[in-house]
Amino acid sequence: MAATTATEAVQTVLAAVCQGLEWTVAEYWAPDEVGKLLHRTSWWSEPLVDVRSFIDAGEAITLTRGQGLPGRVWKTGAAAWLADVSEESEFARREAARDAGLHGALAVPVPLEGDRVGVLQFFTRERVREDPELLETMVAVAVHLGQMLQRQSAEASLRKTEQRLRFQARLLDAVGEAVIATDLDGCVLYWNAYAEKLYGWTAEEMLGRELSDSTSAALSSVEAKAILGRLRRGESWSGELIVRNRAGRQFPVLMTSSPITREDGRLVGVVGVSTDISERKRAEEGQRFLSEAGRVLASSLDYATTLRAVAELAVPTLGDWCIVHVLPGEGQPESAPVARAVPEENVDSAARFEAAAAEVGGLVSAVVDGRIPLVGPTDTGPSLLRTERLEGFGIRSLLAVPLLGLEAPIGVVQFAVTRSARRYDDPDVELAEELARRAALAIENARLYRRAEEGNRAKSDFLAVVSHELRTPLNAIAGYADLMQSGVGGKLSAAHARHVERIKVGARHLSSIIDEILAYARVESGRTELSVSRTDVAEIVREGALAMEPDARDKGLALRVSVPEGGLTVVTDRGKLRQIVINLLGNAIKYTQAGSIDVAARPVDGGAELRVRDTGIGIAPENLSRIFEPFWQAESPNTRTIGGTGLGLSVNRRLLDLLGGTIDVESEEGVGSTFTVWIPSREPETAHGR
Ligand code: ADP
Repeated sequence: MAATTATEAVQTVLAAVCQGLEWTVAEYWAPDEVGKLLHRTSWWSEPLVDVRSFIDAGEAITLTRGQGLPGRVWKTGAAAWLADVSEESEFARREAARDAGLHGALAVPVPLEGDRVGVLQFFTRERVREDPELLETMVAVAVHLGQMLQRQSAEASLRKTEQRLRFQARLLDAVGEAVIATDLDGCVLYWNAYAEKLYGWTAEEMLGRELSDSTSAALSSVEAKAILGRLRRGESWSGELIVRNRAGRQFPVLMTSSPITREDGRLVGVVGVSTDISERKRAEEGQRFLSEAGRVLASSLDYATTLRAVAELAVPTLGDWCIVHVLPGEGQPESAPVARAVPEENVDSAARFEAAAAEVGGLVSAVVDGRIPLVGPTDTGPSLLRTERLEGFGIRSLLAVPLLGLEAPIGVVQFAVTRSARRYDDPDVELAEELARRAALAIENARLYRRAEEGNRAKSDFLAVVSHELRTPLNAIAGYADLMQSGVGGKLSAAHARHVERIKVGARHLSSIIDEILAYARVESGRTELSVSRTDVAEIVREGALAMEPDARDKGLALRVSVPEGGLTVVTDRGKLRQIVINLLGNAIKYTQAGSIDVAARPVDGGAELRVRDTGIGIAPENLSRIFEPFWQAESPNTRTIGGTGLGLSVNRRLLDLLGGTIDVESEEGVGSTFTVWIPSREPETAHGR
């Protein structure tokens, strides 16, 4: 019997029995899924016999265990005869049976493992009598049918399982992660499509093979044991591993391993899911590299240091050596500045390469003119990038990116691989370009800073020279005025004496301005030397007050000094401190029309605090932060008439920077100002010149 489904098998049996016995109708009754009610699920009738209404009537019938003929057989498990159904009160379809001319019936249980899976029921147009021989045959048929049904349901469920497995395998093939299962000896049980792609071996090659033969996770045996230990305890393990593919390339994966256990809980294998994380790692490393680069580049404004930092940063992340080539720019020396980070073994070949790259029309100009990165070896572009030429310099892969300044390209950074088989790819180019962007900015900043510093120094030098040149004729003017006053060339008239006195006041004023400019030029140029010693701040304050007293008296101002009786000693530069005191007192007197000046000193925080308070014109709040800028003066008719250079406070601040101290101001317009200075005491042994 070549029936493929259970229904077909039943149909075949029904037909075969009826045809063999020449019976008219056969039915198969089977319980529903929950085993409560019996339904007719198949029937067969002799052709050309009108039993339609009888068959149809069976359609609607459901029977409980024990109900009707099939129900009784289902319940008891014993076959049963009915001599004539048309006369049988138990038989629900007796009317229909009579109309169809059906009389005798036989119902046989279809047994399976001590239970019944269904009931076969046959009808004939004859009345029947019990026939043990026929019954035996029918029971045999039913047993056979039962076995067949069982086999078929087993096959069907197997087919379902297979289908499900195939579906799962297809699912696992569709995921973008390598799924590999092994038994406890590491023999591969399953290897999905992505594993083929990631590791390079096909499932066919891997199934049954031991895993450690091929993709060796770079695990120490200790680690491997620890992982296996966790899996044995039924826990899963997840972490990053370095693995190797068929081509021998090592790369990082994120691996999650879970135990495969039997129903009784015994560990039988391991399933590992691995994802290639090279890209992610690379992006993370790139980010780390760039932020480190940002930090290094921002840490110096010195041009040479910045150039060197760029080159050194690149090795080894972006290559085995790096050469930064900067174009000679405005105000630059003739030859192009170069920074190199080249290991000993490459020094000669890198130098030859550098010279070749810098040739007219060479690699450097190609990158600068095109403003795009170039990667070699390649057959296009500058000939220096040809395989043979690069090999001549021991270079396996070369990358050159432009340094693009705000207005124009300022140079080229060249990276080379000499030690490994690494080839520059797109992410490398991106990273190099990003580094070049930051480097270009840092180089431009360093250039600007250098230019500004040079400008500043030129200005200071200019001021120093001019002031110095002014001093000689000024000394002559003051000297001759003194001579005239002393009457060496004859006695002066009263009017002449007054004129000479004016000349002397003017000369003194000019001299103090020149002093201020010279002091400024000195601190600005960084040429001021520190000379520290034990210094009594109280004494310096008293001396300063004594020197300025006449000016205060001239304006009718009271000048009061308050310093510790026993002195106040700190280790600092005495001359510079005196300069600061005189300057603050001078300003206080200059910007005060009436009232008083108070100067005080006291020990604070291991140093000395100086306070100069006046009752003068005060400073507008918006100007408080500007008064320390060089040449800055409040724009007011008052100060204009008072005169000055606008340099005193900026010199004070520079001097205090040198001494390691601070200067602050509090002021209210029309009420007065208070300048507070703090000077630390330096360690005599660590105090050094500058
Ligand atoms: P200068 O006094 O030569 O103008 P400074 O650098 O000493 O230069 O001072 C800068 C400016 O700060 C002054 O022009 C003035 O406007 C303001 N200033 C300084 N000291 C005082 C003060 N004690 N009271 C009011 N304004 C002051």
